[in-house]
Amino acid sequence: MQQNTVRTRFAPSPTGFMHVGNLRTALYEYLIAKSLGGTFVLRIEDTDQERLVEGAVDVIYNTLEKVGLKHDEGPDVGGEYGPYVQSERKNIYKPYAEQLVREGKAYYCFCTKERLDALHESKEDGSFSGGYDRHCRDLPKEEIDRLLQAGTSYVIRQRMPIEGSTTFDDVVYGSITIENKELEDQILIKSDGYPTYNFANVIDDHLMNITHVVRGCEYLTSTPKYNLLYQAFGWDVPTYVHLPLIMGKNEDGSVSKLSKRHGSTGFEDLMREGYLPQTIVNYIALLGWCPKENRELFTLPELVQNFSIDGISKSPAVFDYDKLTWFNGEY
Ligand code: GLU
Ligand code: ZN
Repeated sequence: MQQNTVRTRFAPSPTGFMHVGNLRTALYEYLIAKSLGGTFVLRIEDTDQERLVEGAVDVIYNTLEKVGLKHDEGPDVGGEYGPYVQSERKNIYKPYAEQLVREGKAYYCFCTKERLDALHESKEDGSFSGGYDRHCRDLPKEEIDRLLQAGTSYVIRQRMPIEGSTTFDDVVYGSITIENKELEDQILIKSDGYPTYNFANVIDDHLMNITHVVRGCEYLTSTPKYNLLYQAFGWDVPTYVHLPLIMGKNEDGSVSKLSKRHGSTGFEDLMREGYLPQTIVNYIALLGWCPKENRELFTLPELVQNFSIDGISKSPAVFDYDKLTWFNGEY
């Protein structure tokens, strides 16, 4: 594979719903790839087995198909590219965590649920503050071997730095620093053998040579955790592009985070209300991105031609149903 080729991915968790925020992320990932001659990948992040929703992958698939965001590669499914699905890649992740254990950068934690619950309770009354108390960080080797041989259940945690701070750059939000003491030793592999969401995300972004990570700004605060994983492996960090919040208008004229009480926020619901896929895509493209020319109506190929990352703004975008309706009349 050619180095430095732009590769983006849309990495939804299958929640059974494609709302305008998800769709905007998918669209920007697609536009960044296509405007720079790159590759767009679709990856389903379903390692949280408890949260799986039946049929959710179909919802994602159908939505992307209706709006024309076709991914460029993936495993062969009946002569077509399917998405990469993390649960089908389950065995890929653990060896990477084991590697960090061998290198002393991660460790087995055998703490029981009761112990962790008790920790959190003591945290509530102020006697302990700092998440996991690093209890298993330095267990003697014989103890670890004995517990493993006895089949004791464990998770693998990363040994996070206690001192100092972690800084990363975001294309939209600039340089962001977080104190390392805010970060607890994060779990990489859960007791069921599945990777945590953060761990699988980093391993896959690396293995898939992803160059640009686009996601909502609610992920900004967890980005240092991802960065510390890249650092532990000595891997290049992708370019981060966090997107501004999408707000909805309240009756009194104020704005707050877009939710169902503002109107339909799901792609399927908007379609049922008569909005065309092309209108929805065009309107969503402008929720956080400002074209260079003074113009609003774009087809998808025109968006590809005109899109550039430096037009993404960090000011919250306001979803305006009247404007969407106006757009619909223009096609
Ligand atoms: N799986 C995450 C979501 O559905 C995406 C996180 C990311 O793109 O890194 O919100
Ligand atoms: Zn422990």
